[in-house]
Amino acid sequence: MLSVEEARKLVLDSISRLEEVELPLLEALGLSLAQDSVASNHIPPFDNSAMDGYAVQAGDIAGASAEKAVELEVLGDLPAGYTADAEVGEGQALRIMTGAPLPDGADTVIPVESTRAAGGKVLILEGLPAGSHVRKAGEDVKAGETVMVAGTPVGPAELGMLASLGCARVRCFRRAVAGIIATGDELVGVDEELAPGKIRDSNSYTTYGMVREAGAEPLRLGVVRDDAALLERTILDNLDRVDLFVTSGGVSVGDYDMVKDVLGKLGEMNFWKVAMRPGKPQAFGHIGGKPLFGLPGNPVSVMVSFEQFVRPALRKMMGCMELFRPEVSAVLDTPLGRKTGRAEYIRVVAQWHDGAYHVRATGPQGSGILRSMVLGNALAILPEDVGRLEPGAEVTIQLLR
Ligand code: AMP
Ligand code: MG
Repeated sequence: MLSVEEARKLVLDSISRLEEVELPLLEALGLSLAQDSVASNHIPPFDNSAMDGYAVQAGDIAGASAEKAVELEVLGDLPAGYTADAEVGEGQALRIMTGAPLPDGADTVIPVESTRAAGGKVLILEGLPAGSHVRKAGEDVKAGETVMVAGTPVGPAELGMLASLGCARVRCFRRAVAGIIATGDELVGVDEELAPGKIRDSNSYTTYGMVREAGAEPLRLGVVRDDAALLERTILDNLDRVDLFVTSGGVSVGDYDMVKDVLGKLGEMNFWKVAMRPGKPQAFGHIGGKPLFGLPGNPVSVMVSFEQFVRPALRKMMGCMELFRPEVSAVLDTPLGRKTGRAEYIRVVAQWHDGAYHVRATGPQGSGILRSMVLGNALAILPEDVGRLEPGAEVTIQLLR
């Protein structure tokens, strides 16, 4: 049996990054930058006021207070978006709004709360050091600086930063398309009636969700009967449309587990027993140059295996720096009994309190108990050799949401 780490390494070593594309800024959301992002201008581009108030010379107002107000001549008003046409000289002030460029001559802004207007004059009620309430040009980002490196995922903050830098088009790694195939004669669609012996296909839905959540594009290729020719056709017909396939079911040792035979015939496939629970039987390889993950059929096995193998592979394809879910330490609040021999991914509810994550199992942990994934927000990873655990034990958890 392979350990999860060994299987993951074999998978990831065989995955290459997709091409770069240049996209309009908004379409880069959820993708990763293909180039370092170097600032072409300062942010902010000019010294500007951080407050509504008066732009003054600090020397004029040193020592000002409510009792010893300093009177200055007001030159006019400067809203954001405009530049001053006059310089602020000694004994003078310009009424300035947040974001307006600091006028020549001034070095300090006195907030309006520390002033009193008096006709064409203003009384300054507080002395502040030079530079107060001024945002310096380049204080956020300096022109020429590398702000984000290649591989940075573009989220809301990165979109805003790229907009500030004037990047209307962005070079990123292309979004991967994952073709999803559910196999099994017992499966009916979500809008079909259940009949004796039939269950509804849930795997193609959970997989759709996980692909989307990984930032890739899911393509449901439907439910395929346990018929080798049908499966073969579905894969071959879609080779050009997808970057990767995910199948569920048919990879264990049952008589009807024909996925193995088809995959073995179509490409270079490995059939692995991975030392994990759930999710022991897995197939992975390449067909026509496209990676194919043959996940087990049980609904929880699909999700846990996807998390450990498919998600990191999709993220590697899409050029992400960070392939894995965050893992942190947690304290077990309830006992856990288990068989050793395989790493176990227990679905848990993780909550942060008293300075630590605390976890409890969601309830029954069978590989068909999909509700455990609905209730849980994390997976507690119990190493192969760890048996029963008592409350208070420390466990590593993978945060899923
Ligand atoms: P298999 O690996 O094909 O033997 O499937 C293992 C278990 O998972 C069986 O109980 C199947 O009925 C169930 N199963 C397989 N595919 C799906 C699916 N798409 N949705 C829900 N359950 C499934
Ligand atoms: Mg099956």
